[in-house]
Amino acid sequence: MPPFDVPEGDPFGPHNLPYGVFSPAGNTGRRVGVRLGNHVLDAGAAAAALGSPYASLLARPTLTRLLAAGRTAWSDVRRALTAWVTVPAHRETIEPLFHPLSQVTLHLPFEVADYVDFYASENHARNVGRIFRPHAEDSLTPNWKHLPIGYHGRAGTVVVSGTDVIRPSGQRKGPDDPAPVFGPSVRLDIEAEVGFVVGVPSAPGRPVALGDFEEHVFGLCLLNDWSARDIQSWEYVPLGPFLGKSFATSVSAWITPLDALEHARVAPPERTHPLLPYLDDSAPGIEPGGYDLRISVVLNGHVVSEPPFATMYWTAAQQLAHMTVNGASLRTGDLYGSGTVSGPAEHQRGSLLELTWNGREPLGLPGGERTFLEDGDVVTLSAWAPGPDGGRVGLGEVTGRIVAG
Ligand code: MN
Repeated sequence: MPPFDVPEGDPFGPHNLPYGVFSPAGNTGRRVGVRLGNHVLDAGAAAAALGSPYASLLARPTLTRLLAAGRTAWSDVRRALTAWVTVPAHRETIEPLFHPLSQVTLHLPFEVADYVDFYASENHARNVGRIFRPHAEDSLTPNWKHLPIGYHGRAGTVVVSGTDVIRPSGQRKGPDDPAPVFGPSVRLDIEAEVGFVVGVPSAPGRPVALGDFEEHVFGLCLLNDWSARDIQSWEYVPLGPFLGKSFATSVSAWITPLDALEHARVAPPERTHPLLPYLDDSAPGIEPGGYDLRISVVLNGHVVSEPPFATMYWTAAQQLAHMTVNGASLRTGDLYGSGTVSGPAEHQRGSLLELTWNGREPLGLPGGERTFLEDGDVVTLSAWAPGPDGGRVGLGEVTGRIVAG
């Protein structure tokens, strides 16, 4: 089917238009692409062919220049792209510039500057608390309802969807082991998350207010925060996750612009504790900060979980405000993860740690039981959001296969 004739109701129709970076078959040159249905438009070539002023942003090997251009440019470019792929007069010029998705190589679409990961799902945090601190009075730590907890991860090991994940090795020590041992992780896990991509930088000493979220953040993607639970649980006290997570973080090849998700905006869950002013999103004039994203976690072809992003207690705007409130500046290409998305129901948990209750309740799959990941396992996260006219906005999937170290 020709690219222009994408079927009505396709979650990657002209209402979506996520951005990525691709190489066409037989050509190693990287270029900015925009997805329409099962095709990729060479956006720079389209801009050049139509004499568009946006060629300087789109005829690039990465999204970085577009990310840095800011909200007005993002909206203008999106409006132009929408016209290019829908107005019949452009069809003859634009149609030859599409490539079938199945024939291109997709790349990490931007250079990741800093990578931060949060812990924003109350259901996830409570499950983890119940598993690891069963005798604690409260399954949440005392700070949890007052600030979005996060840690700095490793930007250099963020990889694009489809990249194999090499099983990490490290130290582990169970509670009954007399001494730590070294070897391949035996408790390799996933974390189903959403990643937010910063476009516009901020100056040192100038925190980003809640209401300025959309001036800085370009879009979002699915993110899998692979986690070696055995390495993590031995190393994390008192400075947090380190080698248990830094070996790989997978992101979708497609960045969905926030502009495509206007119909998915929802209010976050009711706040049970008063918030300090810089985090208080109940103040008048603050847009609802939640996004209604319906995630699916597929392990070896079987849906094992359906985490609802709308249940996240802390919003991406609050996370951005918090991570800059000390005066830390933002750079173009900063990436921050939402934290594992877990809903209230058992089949909505976003990690195997929770789905198997720390390995005590294995998942029954047609190919055999699973507690944690085995070599050869393939995990794919996909998602959709409500779109215009009752339709759906598809998010690009993020997939990875575990290989022996
Ligand atoms: Mn995480």
